[in-house]
Amino acid sequence: MTAVTVIRRSLREHDNTALVKASEEHDEVVPLYVVDDSYFEQAELGYPRVKFWHDSLKELEQDLSETDGKQLVVRNGDPAEEIQRVVEETEADAVYHNRDYRPYSKKRDQKVEDEIEVPVKSFKDIVMFEKEEILTNSGTPYKVYSYYKKKWFKNDKRRPQKVKDYSTPELESVEIPSVSELGFEKPEDMSVWEGGRENGLQRMKQFKQNIKDYDQARDYAWRDSTSKLSPHLKFGTVSIREVFWEAERMKEDDSDSEGIETWQEELAWRDYYMQILWNYPHEVDEPFMDKYRGNEPDWDSKEDAPQKWNAWVEGKTGYPFVDAGMRQLKKTGWMHNRLRMVVTNFSCKDLWLEWRNVHDYFSRMFVDAEIASMVGGIQWSYSIGTDAQPYFRVFNPMSQSERYDPDGKYIRKWVPELEDVPDEHIHEPWKMSQSQQEQCGVTIGDDYPEPIVDHDEKRKESVERFEKLDN
Ligand SMILES: Cc1cc2nc3c(=O)[nH]c(=O)nc-3n(C[C@H](O)[C@H](O)[C@H](O)COP(=O)(O)OP(=O)(O)OC[C@H]3O[C@@H](n4cnc5c(N)ncnc54)[C@H](O)[C@@H]3O)c2cc1C
Repeated sequence: MTAVTVIRRSLREHDNTALVKASEEHDEVVPLYVVDDSYFEQAELGYPRVKFWHDSLKELEQDLSETDGKQLVVRNGDPAEEIQRVVEETEADAVYHNRDYRPYSKKRDQKVEDEIEVPVKSFKDIVMFEKEEILTNSGTPYKVYSYYKKKWFKNDKRRPQKVKDYSTPELESVEIPSVSELGFEKPEDMSVWEGGRENGLQRMKQFKQNIKDYDQARDYAWRDSTSKLSPHLKFGTVSIREVFWEAERMKEDDSDSEGIETWQEELAWRDYYMQILWNYPHEVDEPFMDKYRGNEPDWDSKEDAPQKWNAWVEGKTGYPFVDAGMRQLKKTGWMHNRLRMVVTNFSCKDLWLEWRNVHDYFSRMFVDAEIASMVGGIQWSYSIGTDAQPYFRVFNPMSQSERYDPDGKYIRKWVPELEDVPDEHIHEPWKMSQSQQEQCGVTIGDDYPEPIVDHDEKRKESVERFEKLDN
């Protein structure tokens, strides 16, 4: 008998749970990808992510076609209708797919389960633990990461699985539309990451050389010390199980495993935010914290405060570390985690910008845009999320860069107008005298902006605004 396996965000064959299960139970399997044009029309998609997805899907199509008797079948249209059509063409007796936890995907998958006329089997694949697998002792979902993490580490974890031999009947397959056919053009001056499993495996291999220093080095934005696997995990070119166990194997070789374990904790954060999204889907539109739902700070929308908004987006706030982060994003579609925290702290506590606008902008720009981690990260900085930073803790953009970019290497890379500013002024260039500015060839207020706001003032204001809401 034949099975149809719907491929979505797990763009690989190896350890693709739905494909593995289908191959265990059927000799004939149709790996099917449905390109749903309407999805690409939504505003929160952008070139870096669509390009990465496209590279990865093309590579999967190529990889499968290199094995005799296998083929990725690509169709275009409404997912439920196209899946049903392929079921009928092949007289398949079951459909297999991996679960996803985003509101859009839940709706789409429900429609598939309701409308397909053969049994639809769904599997956990994109996370290590899902939904309500890790609960408090009283049976409720965790809202505090550190407790969740303990159980995450303790619980048994599945190992990667190989697909069994299968063949695919010959079927019509349409060409994958190009990125520009889908309506996305490469922005000028942007160099984005290439997707695909080959690159994902290569990244993991490279990262293994640094993983032991991860706990010490991860926050230093100028060092290439994090894995940069986020878009690969997003699009499933590598699986969460592959990377977890690859790291775990390194622990066995060496007693110094702190760096490795700190890195695995980040994988646990990813699962943590995914289970939060599943159990508390309101967080997509509303603050996670009950006390702020319906009682939210009155943020400034980008329409109401275009000057502040544009300065933040363009990396022209006059705060070098913030600007460097925003420009790294604009040029590459990726931003270092420390900077993600710094720029969203700034957009909240210094600029008071609407977090939903920040979310939409990141969604369009991030190559790794993942709603659960993004909403989690933004609401953490905005002090309205799960296990969030308390509102009275406000990042100081100068001390952040003094600590994590002491010589200004990261700043100089992304804000080249400050290249010749001496180390002692790189974090606060506006404090240079006229002659110092002349010496290093930059005029503050002309070549590089004056600070758009006074940080100390805004910090106080922000705390007061939150205090008023709390009382
Ligand atoms: C405001 C904000 C927005 C964010 N938006 C996203 C997003 O859209 N997509 C995304 O994947 N991550 C997001 N993160 C989390 C984190 O910044 C990125 O996962 C990380 O920078 C990716 O780089 P890396 O692969 O080198 O990470 P590494 O440090 O190598 O970590 C390994 C993996 O763990 C996961 N991870 C790491 N940190 C976190 C975290 N804090 N929360 C959840 N998962 C984590 C990622 O999958 C990452 O690839 C966001 C964080 C903040 C503060």
